Amino acid sequence: MLVLSSPSGAGKSSIARSLLSPGKDAGAPEVTLSVSVTTRPRRGSEVDGVHYRFLSERDFAVMRERDELLEWAEVHGNFYGTPRGPVEEALAAGRDVLFDIDWQGTLQLYEKAREDIVSVFILPPSMAELKSRLERRAEDSPDVIERRLANARTEIAHWQEYDYVIVNDDLNRALADVRAILAAGRLKRERRPGLEAFVRTLVE
Ligand code: 5GP
Repeated sequence: MLVLSSPSGAGKSSIARSLLSPGKDAGAPEVTLSVSVTTRPRRGSEVDGVHYRFLSERDFAVMRERDELLEWAEVHGNFYGTPRGPVEEALAAGRDVLFDIDWQGTLQLYEKAREDIVSVFILPPSMAELKSRLERRAEDSPDVIERRLANARTEIAHWQEYDYVIVNDDLNRALADVRAILAAGRLKRERRPGLEAFVRTLVE
């Protein structure tokens, strides 16, 4: 489970998108995205079921009460959550799952499966750059941008809860760093159950 968190506008979505596009060699995506549910209104560029599943507050509450969410949180005045089923299916099929969630969700996942998680926090190069990225995106109203900037400070205050921290002053560099973290995470001894039998064939 690869968790990416950052304040809005720090470039996390661009990094996630690149990880999800087909790999150079294999032709298959490197990871499976956990598509969250949210009560936030859909932005013009977003597709229901691709970026999020957009739900009413009532439907969100139903999922939460039925324990169908692996984690959930209120962010910027809206609810967000990770549907449990698709994550469990992907993990059972041996696929790595990418989560674009905030610090509250990350802490909830830690409680469930800390040893299965690699977490990465992405920082903007400066608050000025964060603001101009939010304005350039031009998908949110000025008061929403102000709220996101204020919340950015809260989100950033949780950077020490993450395994890795990347300052995104160069998107390609940040992407290469996330790929390196993913590659190293996959090579961890504890995540390679088949290795023991293989090593036995070497030494016997
Ligand atoms: P946005 O509204 O910009 O798409 O997302 C706002 C924030 O909510 C981002 O920090 C994003 O990572 C977080 N978020 C998105 N989906 C989830 C989720 O399922 N759970 C939690 N805890 N946070 C989420």
